[in-house]
Amino acid sequence: MSDNRPIVAVVGRPNVGKSTLFNKLAGKRISIVEDTPGVTRDRIFAEVEWLNKYFTLIDTGGIEKDNGDVILSQMRNQAMLAVDMAHIIIFVVDGKAGLTAADKEVAQILRKTNKPVLLAVNKIDSINQMDNIYDFYELGLGNPYAISSANSMGLGDLLDEVVENFPKGLNTEYDEDIIRVAITGKPNAGKSSILNNILGENRVIVSPIAGTTRDAIDTYFEKDGQQYLLIDTAGIRRKSKVYERVEKFSVIRSMSAVERADVVLIVIDATEGVTEQDTKVAGIAHDEGKGCIFIVNKWDLIEKDNKTLGNYTKEIREKFPFMMYAPVLFVSALTNQRMNKILETVDYVASEHAKRVSTSALNDVIGEAVMLNQPPSDKGRRLKIYYGSQTGTKPPKFTLFINDKQLTHFSYQRYLENKIRENFGFEGTSVQFEYREKN
Ligand code: GDP
Ligand code: GDP
Repeated sequence: MSDNRPIVAVVGRPNVGKSTLFNKLAGKRISIVEDTPGVTRDRIFAEVEWLNKYFTLIDTGGIEKDNGDVILSQMRNQAMLAVDMAHIIIFVVDGKAGLTAADKEVAQILRKTNKPVLLAVNKIDSINQMDNIYDFYELGLGNPYAISSANSMGLGDLLDEVVENFPKGLNTEYDEDIIRVAITGKPNAGKSSILNNILGENRVIVSPIAGTTRDAIDTYFEKDGQQYLLIDTAGIRRKSKVYERVEKFSVIRSMSAVERADVVLIVIDATEGVTEQDTKVAGIAHDEGKGCIFIVNKWDLIEKDNKTLGNYTKEIREKFPFMMYAPVLFVSALTNQRMNKILETVDYVASEHAKRVSTSALNDVIGEAVMLNQPPSDKGRRLKIYYGSQTGTKPPKFTLFINDKQLTHFSYQRYLENKIRENFGFEGTSVQFEYREKN
């Protein structure tokens, strides 16, 4: 049972339309927090489904976007990173601009891999631009696919070909019953120690595909009848020089793991406190609407009195004000202290993340909240909430039917969120709100 997801990378020079293509394939994201400091707004990884097959899509353009001028070396890096991680590469070129030297440069790198490369000629917005694709045969990457990312044209054929080219032995299925866990944190925080501790205690389900266990990117295990999937365990175990050298890569790896997880463990080194990288990864997990747990590790090394735990919790709450909902565990992978709490909390958060409340119970809570504290008004008009309904899970999403979107206010939404949490919990997960006007 290998669960390594196929990885598909979108590569190409700037402005050919990589992000546009990525966003079309990934679907729109809902950003919950507006100003989390240091968090990249651009999404780089997405789990995409086509013909019931799941794969991870990477927008390599998003990875180095803020690096400015060094376009060519930047592209080489991107292409190399993509070649390294991906199973399939979508090479995007600009059908309007025509073939460029930079395209040839990237093509040269891509031709050397033994991975399938699909050439997508973008910005072919109508049939009479079809002739533009012929120049690109020169790249030696086979038949070009004419697409228009902006108009969603040709994407189906491209995706058919992507799915067709998945290597054998990868898992493209999605099993609702398995809890998918990502362990994130900066190097040396203790991720491998925690991983080994968890795997040591529980029954690891061995893949029937020979030779895949040790290097398996993802690892399955079972405890008390519940199956778990630890995502990217090879990435955690492997102390690769290349990845360790560039801290950015560990963020990138974490992001791809977070994208696929139900529950994200944010491991913090107690002796170091919260670092910028922790804030970044936590912000991403929050934005992606994942179940989140803070694990403060190496608690054995901290000198403690009766205030230490409270003070540490306070520090985390201050550093992550937008994640008040996430449980905080203080553990030691070395002495085993409270390690058994981790899976217990994972189970709990996973069930909260997937929880659905009935419309009638929800409306009782909204009704009571509105009675206690009137909705905001503006120029004599007051926000009216007719009713609400939970329209999504993982993360929980609430749709409120109201009179006028202009009258909604963040502070009132937070008030409602607090009331919903008081009544239903949803511990460990963000919740989302959506408004619909109804007359
Ligand atoms: P990236 O730098 O490769 O990620 O490119 P972007 O996705 O940011 O797109 C660059 C520009 O090309 C933007 O102005 C897009 O609106 C435009 N663009 C992207 N796809 C298409 C397309 O299919 N047709 C046309 N006409 N423009 C497109
Ligand atoms: P990773 O880079 O995040 O995977 O971190 P490792 O699991 O490799 O741990 C880094 C170092 O911290 C190793 O030397 C571990 O033995 C040590 N370490 C991990 N967890 C603990 C802990 O709870 N207490 C103490 N004292 N050391 C720990």
